[in-house]
Amino acid sequence: MIRTKISDALKSEQLGERLLLKGWVRTRRGNKNVSFIALNDGSCIQSIQIVADIEHFGEEFLKPITTGAAIAVEGILVASQGKGQTVEIQADTIEIYGTADPDTYPLQKKGHTLEFLREIAHLRPRTNTFGAIFRIRHNMAIAIHTFFHERGFYYFHTPVITSSDCEGAGQMFQVTTLNLYDLKKDEYGVIDYERDFFGAQTALTVSGQLEGELGAMALGAIYTFGPTFRAENSNTPRHLAEFWMIEPEVAFIEIDENMQLAQDFVRYCVRWALEKCTDDVNFLCEMYDKELIDRLKFVVDNDFVRLTYTQGIEILKRAIEQGKKFDFPVDWGTDLQSEHERYLVEEHFKKPVILTDYPKEIKSFYMKQNDDGKTVRAMDVLFPKIGEIIGGSQREEDYEKLKRRAEEMNIPQKDIWWYMQTRQFGTAPHAGFGLGFERLLLFVTGMNNIRDVIPFPRTPKNATF
Ligand code: ATP
Ligand code: MN
Repeated sequence: MIRTKISDALKSEQLGERLLLKGWVRTRRGNKNVSFIALNDGSCIQSIQIVADIEHFGEEFLKPITTGAAIAVEGILVASQGKGQTVEIQADTIEIYGTADPDTYPLQKKGHTLEFLREIAHLRPRTNTFGAIFRIRHNMAIAIHTFFHERGFYYFHTPVITSSDCEGAGQMFQVTTLNLYDLKKDEYGVIDYERDFFGAQTALTVSGQLEGELGAMALGAIYTFGPTFRAENSNTPRHLAEFWMIEPEVAFIEIDENMQLAQDFVRYCVRWALEKCTDDVNFLCEMYDKELIDRLKFVVDNDFVRLTYTQGIEILKRAIEQGKKFDFPVDWGTDLQSEHERYLVEEHFKKPVILTDYPKEIKSFYMKQNDDGKTVRAMDVLFPKIGEIIGGSQREEDYEKLKRRAEEMNIPQKDIWWYMQTRQFGTAPHAGFGLGFERLLLFVTGMNNIRDVIPFPRTPKNATF
């Protein structure tokens, strides 16, 4: 007999049909005559109720069927008399694959805190909460590929190991096969990386953008979607050391079209979550964040407000004059903190915001320089609860200007000669941005901590599992 997924069984209207279901026991309760087993197989948030007649199975046989056990059940789909479900399974055979000793299995019925569940990340996918989150995570990945594929973007794979450190600024994880217990240095104490695996100092990438630009300048429009790594020692609820980033890059567009693309893209993903992950989103809304669905709908229904960084600073300064307190100072030329970003979004505009034209000193060398000599054509998309969800820019396409800026920022030409050649041969306007996948998931799931939207988070002092 072929196994039926519980999601399909619950939708089935074929009462009287014989089905084979397999899954993990969430709970078993009952009385002298009958046992009710809630069975979940990960295919949906709901469990199906299995009704097991005690006379038929025997009490001893049913005893090891406790929370966490894996079983197979054959039985008849019948209308349910009980509350909370329309159908259930009247079981006639049960096979026990694996038991889960109630004295040692950590996931018992009672509600566990998210902090505790992080310590048992190997088991937390079996909870309703993490089942919902990881199904949404999958769906968002599919939404992202679908969005770009429908618009003619190519999925372009950029390297995970890189020898360029133009963005990293000391936040990179080194990759080496040199023997760290016997590290050879020359007379000046310098490590000879020519003896290393790649013949050069290498690290895990912080962004696929530079290589992404090479793809866009040939294929027209590309996106990357892969893991990125940052050794920033910031223990915040919004930063991971290993996270997934989506980076579209498009030839022949400027900043305005780039902003439009970012808005269309994020809205498409949020709409997908509302339409295709309804049960899981509803569950998270009910359990964790009553305003979740309203917030998602709000983003789908409203245009993002666009203003410059300079205008943003003016608004923040005015707010301070009127008594608003921030932990960090607000000054033209410094990067905005999450509290500032959230003030603009949540309190001032009450809409997602795109800030543009940042001071060049706080942005990367490749961003297009404005005529004022002070700002670059950067754009950050700011979201309620999250702050920055997207960072992007129009790129500097002028060879001389780019070269000068790289020199000012001490980026050696020998490291980026290949990148510079896009501006020497067939240069053209182009733009792109990076969306942190887990930041999007924070928004869509309503979770507060980025550790809870990735199966096995990597953060300072934590790489278990
Ligand atoms: P932040 O200011 O929030 O630290 P950033 O300016 O360093 O972010 P970018 O270099 O612009 O980030 O990266 C693009 C996007 O990647 C960000 O908008 C954010 O969504 C995401 N991102 C950046 N750093 C992290 C991180 N450590 N963990 C998870 N997502 C991140
Ligand atoms: Mn940024």
